[in-house]
Amino acid sequence: IPKVAIVGRPNVGKSSLLNWVAAKLLSVVDPTAGVTRDRVTWIVHHDDRYFELVDTGGIGIVDSDDLSADIERQIDLGLLECDLLLFVVDAKAGVTPLDVEVADRLRRIKKPMLMVVNKCDSSSLDIEAAGFLALADLPQQVTSVKGNRNRLELMSAIVQHLPDGADDEAEEGAHLLEPPEIRLAIVGRRNVGKSTFINQLAETDRVIVSEVPGTTRDSIDIRFDVDGRTFVAIDTPGVRKRKSLANDIEFYGLVRAQRSIRRADVVLMFFDATNTISKVDKQLVEEITKHNKPCVFVVNKWDLAQEEEMTIDKWGEYLVKSFASMRHVPIAVLTAKDGRNIRQLINLTQTIYKQAMTRMSTGKLNRALKLAVSNNPPPHRKNKRPKIYFATQVAVAPPTIVVKCNDPKVFDEAWKRYLLGFLREVSPFQEVPIRLILRARA
Ligand code: GDP
Repeated sequence: IPKVAIVGRPNVGKSSLLNWVAAKLLSVVDPTAGVTRDRVTWIVHHDDRYFELVDTGGIGIVDSDDLSADIERQIDLGLLECDLLLFVVDAKAGVTPLDVEVADRLRRIKKPMLMVVNKCDSSSLDIEAAGFLALADLPQQVTSVKGNRNRLELMSAIVQHLPDGADDEAEEGAHLLEPPEIRLAIVGRRNVGKSTFINQLAETDRVIVSEVPGTTRDSIDIRFDVDGRTFVAIDTPGVRKRKSLANDIEFYGLVRAQRSIRRADVVLMFFDATNTISKVDKQLVEEITKHNKPCVFVVNKWDLAQEEEMTIDKWGEYLVKSFASMRHVPIAVLTAKDGRNIRQLINLTQTIYKQAMTRMSTGKLNRALKLAVSNNPPPHRKNKRPKIYFATQVAVAPPTIVVKCNDPKVFDEAWKRYLLGFLREVSPFQEVPIRLILRARA
């Protein structure tokens, strides 16, 4: 993931800028061995790109009186390994001698830079940006943390100025990021057993549950710990509230479920083992597919199905036949009513989540790509010979693989499906959606 660092003289608003951009993001502690201080990084996902906003243990943006020492330290602590520098200046103060000193030093690092003209609290201050061009002839983005102006614009500008190829430096080996919590959406048709599941979960031994308000007025997020790991079941009606809801309008409406799917890290898609797949089921799976969400197919009321001699294989076949593009999705059978298999199911969601956050090494990916092409070369089309050059994984959640080729239009759909299937087989993320993007080599 490309790294972005924030630099600038004291008091331009670096810390507040960082907190402002990172406010709603996943914050992860870098588990890399050998990092002496707790380096906190924020993985930012914007415009289909990822970048890592680096706070080098707070030190990188701590203001000190001795500027040269401070800047020296900022450089030591990671500016050299980052892919883009955000050079922050203060629109209200204008160009100061210290800015000149910072600019001089930054120029020597020779990194791509974006100038952030902060403290433009109202649009009338935006023209101040021009004055900073004399300081450094850089692309600029005006912002105001205080006035909450241009947060998204700043993220877009960062993404736009990430150097090409920064994404391509995938590390060797799978790299797992430990999130603070995993958000689960529990969806499925009415009476499939969602509330029963949540209630049973709350009663399971060694599960610690707390309820907090959810995103909508009447919904509740249930936060629970299993084996030292935090999960949040989002947008639920809460525990033990089924009586009051019984004759109420359906709590789990389609729109609510679709919204939960979009917000979730992993979706538990419930099916009724005693029933055929319904239209609502199809709409929900469609939403899951559309947003590339990692998912588990949960076939509930398994106690009843077993009485009718249903087998997992038969249900599995039925699911695969109904949702051809969801072959990778793991299937779990459940009897929510008696709480059996609940912990295993929760542990499975963790596995799935980790897969979605995994990176495949560039070397392994390209060896697999070569093999896939030599085993089954892409067929010629429109008299043009399809050529594949190399592949890189550019993002996680969902794992996104970009394959550079001569012309994406000369590859047919069947072959692309073959390639995706092949890469999935050798990848560390076999059970989650993968985005495969063919791109013409520049
Ligand atoms: P929701 O609408 O998805 O929240 O469904 P509920 O949790 O309200 O469950 C609907 C009905 O199915 C209730 O009567 C439950 O007792 C029953 N139920 C839920 N899970 C199971 C199960 O695993 N086996 C059986 N036999 N019944 C279940």
